Amino acid sequence: MGAAMRKARQRRLVVPAYAKVNLGLEVLGLREDGYHELRTLFQTVELHDDVAIELRTSGVTLACAHPAVPCDASNLAWRAAEQLLRHAGERRGVALTLVKRIPVAGGLGGGSSDAAAVLRALDAMLGLRLGATGLYPLARRLGADVPYFLFGGTALGLARGDEIYPLRRQLEAQVVIVDAGRPVATSAVFRRIDAGLTPRENSSTIYRFVSSDLDGSPGYQILTNDLERAALEEAPELAGVVRRARALMLRAGAFFTSLSGSGSSFYGLFDDAHSARKAVDLLRGAGVTAHRCRTLSLDRYRRTWERALRTAGARPTWTQ
Ligand code: ATP
Repeated sequence: MGAAMRKARQRRLVVPAYAKVNLGLEVLGLREDGYHELRTLFQTVELHDDVAIELRTSGVTLACAHPAVPCDASNLAWRAAEQLLRHAGERRGVALTLVKRIPVAGGLGGGSSDAAAVLRALDAMLGLRLGATGLYPLARRLGADVPYFLFGGTALGLARGDEIYPLRRQLEAQVVIVDAGRPVATSAVFRRIDAGLTPRENSSTIYRFVSSDLDGSPGYQILTNDLERAALEEAPELAGVVRRARALMLRAGAFFTSLSGSGSSFYGLFDDAHSARKAVDLLRGAGVTAHRCRTLSLDRYRRTWERALRTAGARPTWTQ
């Protein structure tokens, strides 16, 4: 490929923005800055949005056909582009196009992942070479879940959930995700939690899980999601779906089931494709929308990114 052609191709990139699930989530207390002190295990899955990024002469625009996704400066992907362009002292602008597949306001981190994808892609397209470390402060400013998507895979999230520690052992599993089709606002769920929050510095399920994992016998059963009760109070019509989905997934052989983040998505983990397929059949038979995919490890997450950047002729700055 000639230099001129490579340059032309770098002006437009299409990159995947993967969803996450929370394998466990503990709310430890309210911080002085108004955020919650969390402890969670994040896991990326293959379900993803597509984010197209095209360099323009000036300004930021965003197009997205999903009715619940804003196409203005309140979109997290738009804000990510703006922040990065400003940070780089770049006068050019950007046209963004989002193809949403991740359920919106479903606790799967869609907006945050789109934002991280824009940071990563623009870093490469503009040849800034900031990498995950250099992008981290920008990501943190955009939202508590954004930094995680700079890494992906199985990772521990501490503080606001934005202090990320990738784990050595990466989970490999089939995932079945139930789209409850009912958005749940994270802020509303946290407000409910605050009403009954007692400081729980000694809560230790995630600590125990990570330690048991190092022994080679991960105890998924001990993981809990502290947001589940408040989420189901916030959206009582979800309770029935969750109860039914959990029962059907366990019947099909799930080794773990949970609400993701503050909901409304609910998921199950399976050792093999056969049981996961059976779960999807049972759920669909019961009128519940379900998707099957796999977990995405730290390594696979990084490799898919490298591929996306390379295909477009941009130089990856991803591997530092
Ligand atoms: P959060 O925990 O941040 O609420 P979530 O995974 O539950 O995340 P998202 O799909 O990220 O939910 O959307 C939350 C809200 O953010 C939506 O209601 C939507 O109005 C707004 N939003 C802003 N940017 C985006 C985006 N790129 N994709 C989806 N929603 C977005």
